Amino acid sequence: MSENRRLAIVTGGIGGIGTAICERLAKDGIQVVATYHPAEEEKLAEWNKARAEAGVEVAVAVCDVSSAEDSARMVAEVQNEFGPVDIIVNCAGITRDMTMKRMDAENWEAVINTNLNSAFYVTKPAWVGMLERGFGRVINISSVNGQRGQFGQANYSAAKAGMHGFTMALAYEGAAKGVTANTVSPGYIATAMTAAMREDVLESIVSGIPMRRLGKPEEIASAVAFLAADEQAYITGANIPVNGALFVH
Ligand code: NDP
Repeated sequence: MSENRRLAIVTGGIGGIGTAICERLAKDGIQVVATYHPAEEEKLAEWNKARAEAGVEVAVAVCDVSSAEDSARMVAEVQNEFGPVDIIVNCAGITRDMTMKRMDAENWEAVINTNLNSAFYVTKPAWVGMLERGFGRVINISSVNGQRGQFGQANYSAAKAGMHGFTMALAYEGAAKGVTANTVSPGYIATAMTAAMREDVLESIVSGIPMRRLGKPEEIASAVAFLAADEQAYITGANIPVNGALFVH
């Protein structure tokens, strides 16, 4: 493999969608660093073993992306070890679903910090380098519920909609310097996040999806790989829905 291959950081990289993104980018010849939350330490050995068995090379870095300091430390360490970061995929996310009536500031802030502020915290330390080198890809994993809102998800819908606002601003700022920024907005995807839903709720969601099935993590990864490629130099500020026609506008 060439020494000049692109370097990607994928946050939430050992989660359901993140894992598929890491594997796909690695298969496309990109050097990938998956970040994981400190609480995921015990999952790591098994995760590394599965990647090794699949013959996929992905490095890992611990980081709490809801912390600006920890994100800056992680990006600096990755750049010291592997070189300049070319591609950032902001994929870490959590839900704390509850109606506005019950939601308190703590549940609001946890979701805004982890899903939205994290995108700024992780992108910022790599941004100037991307502009200076004349190449960069920032890909933010949002959600259909950031595009249309969702009952019980005021925090999550706000964070995910905010991610796309962030994307659009970066698209303007990076345009003259070869740096693109795009959003991928998944519908309902078969991962731990959806497995945690009540079965009857999930069934009723699936029956409302025109394709009548959940999406696969690999289907998100394929959209990310498309946007990450060198040849996608002219797509920027876009929000690509990957949702089985759940929401079309
Ligand atoms: P997962 O829960 O499998 O993955 C999310 C990952 O983010 C987990 O590994 C999680 O770690 C990590 N994470 C959470 N908080 C932090 C933190 N503070 N610092 C670092 N890492 C953290 O979910 P998915 O793979 O399903 O989701 C990936 C992304 O896709 C999320 O942004 C989600 O909002 C979005 N999405 C998912 C959809 C779906 O249907 N699955 C639909 C639309 C969007 P831990 O396990 O410790 O929490």
